[in-house]
Amino acid sequence: MTRVGPEEFFACPSCKAVGSGHPLLSYTNFSVEVRTDGFSPQGGPGQVGLPGVTRCHGCAEVFLPARAERVSRVRGAPKLVHPGEQEFLEAIEHGLFEDRAECLVLRLSAWRLGNGAPGAERAEGPPRCPEAKQNLERLFDLLDVGDADHLILKAEVARHLGRFETCAALLDDLPRGLSEPWRSTIAELARSESRGLGTVRTDWSSDLYLACKECGARSRTRAPGRGGALRCSLWIVECRECSHVAWAVDLKVDDPSPERASWPWVLLAWLAGWVAALWLGLRGSPLKFLGLSVIPLLIANAFFRLWLRDRAWPLARLPNMEQLLDCVDREDWRGPIEERWVRTQAWRRSCEEGARDPGTWTERAQRNQDRLQPLLSDGQEGVLLSAEIARRASRFDEAIELLAEHPHAEWDPRVKRARNLAREGDALSAPV
Ligand SMILES: [Zn+2]
Ligand SMILES: [Zn+2]
Repeated sequence: MTRVGPEEFFACPSCKAVGSGHPLLSYTNFSVEVRTDGFSPQGGPGQVGLPGVTRCHGCAEVFLPARAERVSRVRGAPKLVHPGEQEFLEAIEHGLFEDRAECLVLRLSAWRLGNGAPGAERAEGPPRCPEAKQNLERLFDLLDVGDADHLILKAEVARHLGRFETCAALLDDLPRGLSEPWRSTIAELARSESRGLGTVRTDWSSDLYLACKECGARSRTRAPGRGGALRCSLWIVECRECSHVAWAVDLKVDDPSPERASWPWVLLAWLAGWVAALWLGLRGSPLKFLGLSVIPLLIANAFFRLWLRDRAWPLARLPNMEQLLDCVDREDWRGPIEERWVRTQAWRRSCEEGARDPGTWTERAQRNQDRLQPLLSDGQEGVLLSAEIARRASRFDEAIELLAEHPHAEWDPRVKRARNLAREGDALSAPV
């Protein structure tokens, strides 16, 4: 559900003219189609809520409402307008961003708006003005190859710039996961040397249906978080029957048909339900018949189907520390992002399972920890994890130093907790 907060008032930094807007509180995307540049045409951040950049109705300068001075209510203040590509390019040119992350958001918004405003005709082909082309080149440099969500956008930017080989090479480094329809759509466009936009249909189900490669046992896994096809999600699972460990996406069954597989049961439930409904319906008015029989029947049937699905496709198990360390030993990954993910999972498990004291760790768990730290990025998650590794290894000064570099060092509760543990010289508590 999309919810906006109460109206707030912002003064233009140049001429103090006041405009109003409603901040975005929460946002859910029900769109099934998403453009290959990651933009969803059905309204969302950037189209509702406070505009990232706006043009002042008084002096026509651009400014960032989030940075502008908040003032008390002004009667009849006009709404802050949601701008186009031009306003974002101007904000970038005037250096209105404070750091790299904010600069990235502005450049990304400018690019997406240049590709066609919501509801407008879709733009095709390369950027149309020199500023837009320069923006695209800078955006390419800003996107981080160590981050899966950035990597796919970087590949798409390369394609828009006409660097089709770079695009294909970047896509090859993308981790296996639910981003597959997105990846293959871009790959296909790059192969045909097209610079136009494509659309990707998202898959709303967050379940992956799996069949074990060793014994054929069926299972199901839930991708972390909803969000359908566009999420770059990674998952390793363990077979319930034979304990075979594999990447969930490699075991994926395309057409699970969990309902069809158990149709005699569903049919039986329906028949039994109808008999009950008729029996109840014969003793009352038609309305009572509806209320008493049909609705509960539908609800019962829905639960019955879920129960059948869970019987046919039970949840897959997650691997334990030893199994994850086996994955590390046989280097069961494709590209650096997957390697970092497997090593991180193995490290987290090593900290949880019976081996909480790093002094008692096996040699390979120790080796995994030593190899993991240099792989971490300087983004917020990477810094936090790196500091936690230092703390677990009793290098407390290093941990505190690393946490000071965290972009949200002042308010992120996880950073505060990690810092407190490091200051207390606690190496044994589980990682934050
Ligand atoms: Zn102004
Ligand atoms: Zn199996």
